[in-house]
This record gives sequence, structure tokens and C-alpha cells, in this order.
Amino acid sequence: MLHLPKMRPCILATGGCGYIGSHVVVELVAAGYQVVILDNFENSTHKTAARIKRLCKRHVTIVEGDVCDRALVEDTLLQYNVNAVIHLAGKKAVGESMADPILYFHDNLLGAIALLEAMRNCDVGRIVFSSSATVYGASEMQPLAETASTCVLNPYGRTKLMIEEMIDDVTASAQDFKAVSLRYFNPVGAHPSGQIGENPTDVPNNLFPYVSQTAAGIRDKVRVFGGDYETPDGTGVRDYIHVVDLAKGHVAALDYLFSDHAARHERINLGTGTGYSVLEVIEAFSKASGTRVAYEIVARRPGDVAVSLADATFAKTLLGWEATHNLTRMCKDHWAFQCGGKPDEKDSSFTRQLHFSENVLSGS
Ligand code: NAD
Ligand code: UDP
Repeated sequence: MLHLPKMRPCILATGGCGYIGSHVVVELVAAGYQVVILDNFENSTHKTAARIKRLCKRHVTIVEGDVCDRALVEDTLLQYNVNAVIHLAGKKAVGESMADPILYFHDNLLGAIALLEAMRNCDVGRIVFSSSATVYGASEMQPLAETASTCVLNPYGRTKLMIEEMIDDVTASAQDFKAVSLRYFNPVGAHPSGQIGENPTDVPNNLFPYVSQTAAGIRDKVRVFGGDYETPDGTGVRDYIHVVDLAKGHVAALDYLFSDHAARHERINLGTGTGYSVLEVIEAFSKASGTRVAYEIVARRPGDVAVSLADATFAKTLLGWEATHNLTRMCKDHWAFQCGGKPDEKDSSFTRQLHFSENVLSGS
């Protein structure tokens, strides 16, 4: 049985204008939830916010501000009668976290503390937290079930693990505080409209945006980090998940939190259970884009594991959710966004070419 308020429940999405957040907001609205976004735009733009609103075709409130600002979070929770929170806001670059751990402790940990405190003060007792498969570190167990041991390899991962543990303590202290931490595997792809997606302005660290920018002629070739792993073709294997599937997993997690069988705090993998090697991704992207993506095999990247694969059965049994998009679809949608997607009829300045360069130059 669902315990939904009489009105459509209102969800606060912190970081709702980011890559994953924007897709989560679109799926929440499609599922009938009201949404308020809190975003400080440090890694998004007002143009993305406008596109989210257009894709939702329903009113979405956007509050510009920092999740570390507890008073602002409290005002927002009260003003919009928020029933639950999806906490996506934060920093996410592993290398940056190693160079400046305090920045990560500040934004990720203090952000979570301010949010949890504001939720307690305003009697908002349901949270979905954006965690990461990085909490498994270099675990030997493959595929990775939620019961696998955790291990911190860098400050970013430490913040994810610490926030999960903070949520353990907060949910243990208050009977009506319930939480789900979603451990994402490798989110890729974009909305089928081509209007929202991820296109980093700096040199991408992640494989998909690098391959996509190479296909677009922005980079010369992909450097494949390691060809001597114990995998079928020697290159690293990952569990890539389409961002729309991932977003739908958040809707399923919220529905679960509003049910009468919600446990205190569940950790749930969001992955497909299928792994692809770097060379398989390059091949699939070449086909989807109609461009031969050049590559060379170089030394392993320090800190990388050979294989990272989700055991996705818990999400299916508990939430009734599973991913449906295959690698071809991930590549096609990623490429459509890279190329500017369908021109938006309400914004006549979006010619294909202009939109393309705008994505490349100033991010999504
Ligand atoms: P993103 O950077 O695209 O989105 C984060 C959003 O939060 C941005 O819009 C940014 O402007 C906003 N933001 C950042 N700090 C904020 C603050 N202090 N207050 C308010 N807003 C703030 O990142 P993403 O890829 O969408 O990731 C979302 C979440 O998922 C993050 O917590 C990230 O750690 C987690 N995650 C991402 C991945 C991935 O591969 N993208 C994998 C695992 C986990
Ligand atoms: N990778 C690569 N070249 C790149 C970026 C990544 O060969 O320019 C490889 C990386 O070694 C890993 C896989 O692609 O095997 C996925 O890397 P990504 O950074 O996207 O995700 P993560 O390492 O966080 O799983």
C-alpha cells in the first residue's frame, strides 16, 4: 500500500539541474510527482534549467542556492510542503577530490549535514541519496552485490561512504526517517530528445564523453587505459547504464519509500548486470555515430579496476525496477545530444549547428 499525501507529493531534488538530476526531474514529473529543484548552478546552466522545464511540460520550481545553506533548505522544504528529498547535489570528480579533499569534505559532507538537519527540523522523513559503486573500492566480488565489502580509494568515495553511514545513524535515531542510497554504476547516454545530457567543458575524465568528443572531432583519439587486464579483450569492463533507466530507478525508490514496507535505510545498486569493455564501447559508438573513433592502447590508469559489474537483482526484487536500454541505445542517445538533438521549436535560435557548438563550448 502506498502512503501518498492527498495532493501529488512534492519532491525536493538537490542538484536537479545537473546531468543525472535533470533526467530524474523529467521522470519524476512524468510519474506524477511535483518537483522543486535546489541548485547553485556551479555545474549547470540556466539554459539547461529552461530545457528541463520545457521537457516536463508542467510547472517545476527552481530555487537557486546552495544545499550547505541550511536556512534556505528549511525555507524551501516548508514553503513548498516537500514530502521527500532526492539528494544529488555535490562534487563528483575523483582526481579533483585527491587534489583538494577539503573541498569535497566541505561540499559533500557539509551539504549532507545541512540537508539532514533541515529535514529533521521540518519533519521531512524520506530521502533518496545519490551514492556510487565507487564505495566498493577494489572488491574482488564480481558482480558486486550490495553485501560486498566497501573500501575507500579516494576522498570522493570517502564522502559517499560517510554520507551513507550518516544516514544509517539518522534513520536509526528517528522511527519515521527512511532512506534509500542508490549506488550508481556508470551512467551514460542522454534524454531521447537530445535536449539534456552530459558534455563536460574540460577534457573529459570518463570514457563515454571522451569517445563522443572524439567522434565529433573535438579530440584526436581515445587513449585506452590498459590492454593487459584479465578480461576477454584485455581492456577494462564496466556496467554502463542509460541515464533514463537510472532516473526511473529514482522514481521506483521514491515509490518504495512511500510504501508501508519501506525499511530504515536500504543500499541499492543501479546497474544493468552486463559489462562492456572499452573496445566494445568504442566499436558500438563508432557504429551509432557513423564515425570511426580512433584509439590507442596506453598504460593502465592508476586506481582503475579491471572489472566493475553490478548484481542488479536486489533493485528488481525490492523496487520492481530493471534497466531496459542496451549499449546501442546508450551510444545513439549520447551522440544525438552531442550533435544538438532535435531543434527546439520554441527557441528558434537553436539551429543544429549553433546548438552543437553551444554544448561543446559551455556545457549542457
Ligand atoms: P552534476 O555535476 O552534473 O550535477 C550536480 C548538480 O548539483 C549540478 O547541477 C550542480 O550545479 C549542483 N550542485 C553542486 N554542488 C551544489 C551545492 N553545494 N548546492 C546546490 N547545488 C549544487 O553531477 P551528476 O553526474 O548529475 O551527479 C549527480 C550525483 O550523482 C552526484 O552526487 C554524484 O556524486 C553522483 N554520482 C554520479 C555519477 C556519474 O557518473 N555521473 C556516478 C555515481 C554517483
Ligand atoms: N577509460 C579509458 N580511456 C578514457 C577514459 C576511461 O580507457 O579516456 C576506461 C577506464 O580505464 C575504465 C573505463 O574506461 O576501464 C570506464 O572509465 P570511466 O572513467 O568512464 O568510469 P570509472 O573508471 O569511474 O568506472
